[in-house]
Amino acid sequence: LLDVSGLRKAFGSHEVLRGIDLSIERGRVLVLIGPSGSGKTTVLRSINGLEIPEAGVVTAAGGIRVDYAAKPAKKDILALRDRTAMVFQHYNLFPHMTVIENIIEGPTQVQGVKKAQAIAEAEALLERVGLAEKRDVYPFQLSGGQAQRVGIVRALALKPDLLLFDEPTSALDPELVGDVLAVMKELADEGWTMLVVTHELAFARQVADEVLFMDGGVIVERGAPRDIFTAPREERTQQFLHRIL
Ligand code: ATP
Repeated sequence: LLDVSGLRKAFGSHEVLRGIDLSIERGRVLVLIGPSGSGKTTVLRSINGLEIPEAGVVTAAGGIRVDYAAKPAKKDILALRDRTAMVFQHYNLFPHMTVIENIIEGPTQVQGVKKAQAIAEAEALLERVGLAEKRDVYPFQLSGGQAQRVGIVRALALKPDLLLFDEPTSALDPELVGDVLAVMKELADEGWTMLVVTHELAFARQVADEVLFMDGGVIVERGAPRDIFTAPREERTQQFLHRIL
């Protein structure tokens, strides 16, 4: 479904990504773990075209191919962004728009979906995550857990091929984390293709088809959750898990 190869990105002299290769098959859930600053967010943002790395090729379903080293056309980056939707750590809802307006913005403004249809679809998605009655409130009137479920619905409304989650629960109070993880688990069970950056290792164990451990701008190790968590091969993975488990 999506292939990334040779992704490189530096901020000034700081090389944040030093050659990332990964591929995601349709219907699979990949969880990306690693220490703070290892470049996980930058990987997601590069796949979504929010960050423009110096090098790397991203290919996606529908003949999309973005070669960052070759100054890709804006329309190719927008095509990539349209097929991948991001759920952010801090929700990133538009504060001056209601919940329903937030959700229909992408479909109506970017994808040309008719407003009535976008609203009907948004309402159905809100119903699914138990937030139908929040349709007309503003983001500041939501709890963090509710705001993040709206963030997820907003991503789903774009009907992307791939859902990208950037530490979706790390800004939440502990008692609100479960609701968001439950929605994510449901999406995984339904067959959505997902790339998830998270520190929720129990979630990774339960939901991931594969876990990738990243450190220092490279993917150090990847494998089934069972193998990575119980018998990591690489010393850096062992040390990381030892620190956080
Ligand atoms: P965390 O778990 O803390 O979110 P991460 O693994 O997601 O970390 P990134 O957010 O990808 O890491 O950041 C990797 C490095 O790149 C960090 O050292 C960060 O300070 C740096 N960085 C990220 N974005 C920028 C930017 N726009 N300008 C300069 N440096 C940046």
